[in-house]
Amino acid sequence: MTPDPITSLSVRVLDGDPRAIARAISLVEAEHSAGRDLIGRIYPRTGRAYLIGVTGAPGTGKSTLVDRLIFEIRRSGHTVGVIAVDPTSPFTGGAVLGDRVRMSTHAGDRGVFIRSMATRGHLGGLARATGDAALVLDAAGMDIVLIETVGVGQDEVEIVSTADISVVLLVPGTGDDMQAIKAGVMEIGDIFVVNKADREGADRVVQAVGASLALHTYGPSDWTPPILKTQALTGAGVDLLWAEIGRFRTWAAEHQRSRRRERHASRLRDLLARLFLGHVDASLPAGTFDRLVEAVDARECDPYSAVAEIMSRVLPGSQMSSPEPRVSNPQSPVPSLESPVPGPEPPVPSPHIPDPDAR
Ligand code: GDP
Repeated sequence: MTPDPITSLSVRVLDGDPRAIARAISLVEAEHSAGRDLIGRIYPRTGRAYLIGVTGAPGTGKSTLVDRLIFEIRRSGHTVGVIAVDPTSPFTGGAVLGDRVRMSTHAGDRGVFIRSMATRGHLGGLARATGDAALVLDAAGMDIVLIETVGVGQDEVEIVSTADISVVLLVPGTGDDMQAIKAGVMEIGDIFVVNKADREGADRVVQAVGASLALHTYGPSDWTPPILKTQALTGAGVDLLWAEIGRFRTWAAEHQRSRRRERHASRLRDLLARLFLGHVDASLPAGTFDRLVEAVDARECDPYSAVAEIMSRVLPGSQMSSPEPRVSNPQSPVPSLESPVPGPEPPVPSPHIPDPDAR
């Protein structure tokens, strides 16, 4: 009996077959159930790869630096997969051409796999697809997975947060230090790299990042993000970057066991939210959602009551009385106006909402 296509594809992925890897990544990108089946097959064989996120504004030298890192990683005897994510541009022939040019540098080396991914309209999906593509590369036996992405906003930060370590790239001469701080990238950097160090002003960027990091207090066992200078064009400083990545990895193994757990938890929450919203879309009578939006807009009902109404329709008999997210930190004090110990939430009063089905 011939195995079904997903089984044979997963076998070839596990074998490290580049064509199968490419096909598998296309499947998970397409948000198709076959992609989910594939992840189900390969998942038990994942969890070995180390995921490195590299983020920075366009033109900071990410792809040049990643190419240099590939050589460094190969020299150290490891295999490497690269996912280059560009949320700012739709998928174009340019990305594919870029892959070919980059791959040709490593032609014939089965230890290197490079793939571009671009937005398909919503970034949440892109973050998920990136995570799944990383699983494919992990299952295919890549020791290191580099995730290269433009770091301009919260959604891109989310992509990089799926990695084990985040490397943030800055360059002199663009006020880039300030951009990074604004975009919240400072919070996610485990290592800061000032690339194009051959240019005037590199030391000023190093100082600006240092000043920004100095606002945090680091305990004796905390990781203090190093600030490195590189010249990706010549490769200067890239060996030190690779060494620092190794140092972080060792530190994290001892001090940060929960990072992957947190990532799994947030992944599960994300998937659950998406599935649940899909369930809401599928089970709410047509037009109900829009009519609730209008009712909220017209002040005929408040947003909480509108959500309670939706919940009672899609989950009949649910005790769900509040759409508020749970407090993630159970130690946080629960603000209360009257009673010091908050009791169970009172049932939400029945909202006066125009019933769309009655019309
Ligand atoms: P990305 O958009 O962040 O991927 O940036 P690229 O890797 O495409 O690099 C943008 C430009 O900066 C290219 O023309 C590179 O040759 C150049 N570049 C990269 N690294 C350096 C460097 O260390 N020094 C200088 N002067 N230019 C660099």
